[in-house]
Amino acid sequence: MAWLEQNKPALANQLKALPWVSDGVDDSEREAAEALIEAAVWYPVSFSALLEKPWVGDSITQHETTAIRRIRWAAKDAPELAQEILQKSWVQDGIARDEAAVIYYLYWTVRAEDETLQQAVVEKAIEILAMPFLDTVESPDALAVRSLERFEDAGSEAFLELMSHPTLGDGITDEEAKTVVLLGATNEKKPESVPVLLDGNGVYREERTIDLPYSGETLLAVIRLRNRVNDNMNRLEHAVRSAEGFMGESLTTNYVAWYFDEATSSPTTPGTNYQAHITSKPYFDDPNDDRWSNTPLHIAHEVGHYYWTGSSNQRWIREGGADLLAYLSENDRSGRPIESHRSECTFFDNISELEAADPERGTDQYRCYYALGSRLFVDLYHSLGADTFEQGFRSLYLKRLQDDPYDDCEGTGLGICHVEAAFRAGASDDVAGRVDEVLDRWYGPRP
Ligand SMILES: [Zn+2]
Repeated sequence: MAWLEQNKPALANQLKALPWVSDGVDDSEREAAEALIEAAVWYPVSFSALLEKPWVGDSITQHETTAIRRIRWAAKDAPELAQEILQKSWVQDGIARDEAAVIYYLYWTVRAEDETLQQAVVEKAIEILAMPFLDTVESPDALAVRSLERFEDAGSEAFLELMSHPTLGDGITDEEAKTVVLLGATNEKKPESVPVLLDGNGVYREERTIDLPYSGETLLAVIRLRNRVNDNMNRLEHAVRSAEGFMGESLTTNYVAWYFDEATSSPTTPGTNYQAHITSKPYFDDPNDDRWSNTPLHIAHEVGHYYWTGSSNQRWIREGGADLLAYLSENDRSGRPIESHRSECTFFDNISELEAADPERGTDQYRCYYALGSRLFVDLYHSLGADTFEQGFRSLYLKRLQDDPYDDCEGTGLGICHVEAAFRAGASDDVAGRVDEVLDRWYGPRP
């Protein structure tokens, strides 16, 4: 700021005149303020365009911060893209979650994997921004851009080839965006399915719009590579309603796409929530398969990962949290008792030993993250009762979204410290004692 005040006093004054800057920049505003200072110093054109937006003038939200930061970086790495973003009609009136996601993922797309193709990728990103599906931004559009970013990340050349496919080359429509969502992860796990999805022949999409208490209007889709009529759309709706209701917070998207294909994260993984969409093995869609009866529990677990996700969080929290939501969903649907369905962990006495060993994915030891995580949360649920548990569980989730300044735990990557804080904060001695008992049993010695 000092440099700016000395060398570009006019811009510095403009910045200082913003109400949320003039009354002092707090922690939630710091990132946006710093990005604006950097823009003023190095990219005055983008800075001025940003300052013209009324939403930069009032208070600053988390999504607006994301947008400002990415526009500042785009001004450096792909200035034309920054200018085009700033001219979109939906950038004028404030930045909603899905709009911030479009800017965020479009920015990361132009960090080309193959540097020699950098310019071609930037040009393609600018073309994408002008396509019909981004005239206005809905959840499928944001997830489609996220999917394209993932595709580019796997290889710039293949990405450019994808974008010249006749289906996408003439501009992605809103309808097409709903399928583009699947391409990024599918390309990595089962590339043969990409041309099938693009072609559209033999792709069956079942859709349902529902209204949710916290998320509002949400589009559900079941996408299949064979024509089937079964109960899975109802099962998906049940899982989504159950998870959203218990968490008391909106989903991270208003488009939940459930795709049946082999393209899960590994050949033996039954299903994966890629955040852009969920992929499950096709046997979960076949009423004649033995595993059909497991489908409701399976999809409820994957839906649970819309809340319990993120590589910075301990795996036992992600998997145990998703399992707990699945048990609640199944208890409500079929009366199944709320108990772990994971086979017992025989390798470690408790989670602290498991964390220290950090076993590799795909090993038997790795399954202990599921086994111990689900048991810890199930035990907490029964020990505290539904209401007290729900409070702590929500509080834990909120700590993942935003660093809680009132606990003594580091950041938003969840670990045992956050679990302890979430369930013990404000608790009576009796409740705190029960929390300790459960954590001692499943986590073991705490740091
Ligand atoms: Zn999982």
